[in-house]
Amino acid sequence: MVSHTTAADDQELALAAETARAAGAPGGDLVVAAEGNISVQTPDDRFHVTASGTRLSHLRPSDFVEVSRNRLVAGIEQCSTDADWKEVLVDRANPAAARPSVEAGLHAVLGAELGAGVILHTHPTPVLALMAAGRGEELARQRMIPDHVVMCGTRSVLLDYHDPGLELAKQALNLVRAGTGCSNVWLLEGHGMVAHALTAHAALDVTLMVVKMARLLLAAGRDAVALPSSEVRRIATREDESYRRALLRLDAG
Ligand SMILES: [Zn+2]
Repeated sequence: MVSHTTAADDQELALAAETARAAGAPGGDLVVAAEGNISVQTPDDRFHVTASGTRLSHLRPSDFVEVSRNRLVAGIEQCSTDADWKEVLVDRANPAAARPSVEAGLHAVLGAELGAGVILHTHPTPVLALMAAGRGEELARQRMIPDHVVMCGTRSVLLDYHDPGLELAKQALNLVRAGTGCSNVWLLEGHGMVAHALTAHAALDVTLMVVKMARLLLAAGRDAVALPSSEVRRIATREDESYRRALLRLDAG
């Protein structure tokens, strides 16, 4: 498609690339090699997502591919095979152009659901370890400390394992259409997680909070004590916490 990248987009893409490089640093344990991807969602139909095969640790602004959210969501509804889905992802007018990440469909669905901002998808080891132990539900449903509520809302979405790419995007779309997709954190069983925020830096902050809580739950074991639901509601509705949430450029509700 013809690029409509604006100066504002360029600035956002530079910040997103900088954040992606931080997210991809080996010590962070969020991704290895070409794992993970990031998208910058614009207020209109477009979004910018990392090209297939790029490394977050070395990401440059030119590694983003611009795609149409509506076109991808329509493709998710209509495609039934990986070959069909590839046709949607490939730019027919420019077949030599870089292909968007195979997870571009997931970014399209979440961007349509959660609005403009940045979506960061990673595969953090502590989050995967907790899910491998059958404890993903705890990370999605429980809140352990006040800042967990401030940054991740009162609960996260937990999606069963689905084949990455078209099938995962279809299931995400089903969940959104069922009205259960409104959270800035999506946990993907056996795969990883997704964080949405108003800026790239905030999306990384949310990711790091989820990783921290996964580590906390692993260290505390199965008897980990969560905040009572009354305290979670209290934090979620405090005016001063809403103020902090706005300053942190989060969208957690
Ligand atoms: Zn992934």
